[in-house]
Amino acid sequence: MAGLKKTIIRSGLETLYFSGLHHVLRPVVGGVGAILTLHHVRPARRDAFQPNRLLEVTPQFFEGLLKRLRRSRVDVISLDEMYRRMVSGNFKRRFVCITFDDGYKDLHEHAYPLLKQYEMPFAVYVSTSFPDRLGELWWLALEAVIAKNDRIGLVVNGKDQFFDCASVRQKRELFDDVYQWLRSMKSEDELRRVVRDLCACHRVELVSFARDLCMGWEELAQLSVDPLVTIGAHTVNHMMLKKIANEQVARAEIEMSRAVIEAALGIRPQHFSYPVGDPTSAGPREFAMATELGLKTAVTTRPGVLFKAHRDHLTALPRISVNGEFQQQRYLKVLISGAATAVWNGFRRVSAA
Ligand SMILES: [Zn+2]
Repeated sequence: MAGLKKTIIRSGLETLYFSGLHHVLRPVVGGVGAILTLHHVRPARRDAFQPNRLLEVTPQFFEGLLKRLRRSRVDVISLDEMYRRMVSGNFKRRFVCITFDDGYKDLHEHAYPLLKQYEMPFAVYVSTSFPDRLGELWWLALEAVIAKNDRIGLVVNGKDQFFDCASVRQKRELFDDVYQWLRSMKSEDELRRVVRDLCACHRVELVSFARDLCMGWEELAQLSVDPLVTIGAHTVNHMMLKKIANEQVARAEIEMSRAVIEAALGIRPQHFSYPVGDPTSAGPREFAMATELGLKTAVTTRPGVLFKAHRDHLTALPRISVNGEFQQQRYLKVLISGAATAVWNGFRRVSAA
């Protein structure tokens, strides 16, 4: 399914690009601006099995993106400035915000020097358990378990089951199946339990990913004093909030992450990103919560550009994912124009239900 969706997006982009349709659609769907989502910026790895590759782009590609933004007639602005323009109705110039989720070390190492060089503001949304070195980056742990083993055991519906994953093709299929199964679980506690068991059985240290890949508080402190940088919150435990039945617990995930960042860095985050961020992990309850908690903006991963109407939905903003599977600058041109996501959304402008 993930593969199919990817193919549709890719072929849709090719069609839009080659037909030039995005120029025709631009005035209709281009919107007033766009928020870009990035995760990792790091040199490409050679491994054939990289199921999380969509979350990373190379430094070369990233610099190409910054060059394109500099050449284009859009303003690259901070989230605070975006908020000001949305609220005051200042839409004279189209704008782009650059955002990073999770707070990886490679942002500090590879992306930050380029962002400084091009003097472009950006935001990083931090799950506070990551710099606290307790966070569970379960999607990477799942990748590691499948990468290291030829066969894995899982308890499915109360029964022990074994899955062969010796070949790259088997690994890819198994990752997709297990990932979908985990994401379909009613609660995230259940998901975490499965991943913890899997890691324990196959000797993968679950907390090693936060320690090895995520920025610590010192690196975050370095970033936070730079006027180009906005530190946003991303819950404490990187939880899919909609799957937390108890509203108080969900609210605490948002509130505590802001409090911890404020205690560590001296800045209270005014902006928030819903972990995972699709309709299964953030919906109307979470959007209302973010508003009640006084956040200026909150972003999803629902695809789309911003329209004037989003001023009434500032805690349910769509973003454009800069996806590692589509590392060609011409895709970005189409994505930023809004044409591709408009087709994906069936031309519905605001998706906040
Ligand atoms: Zn995240």
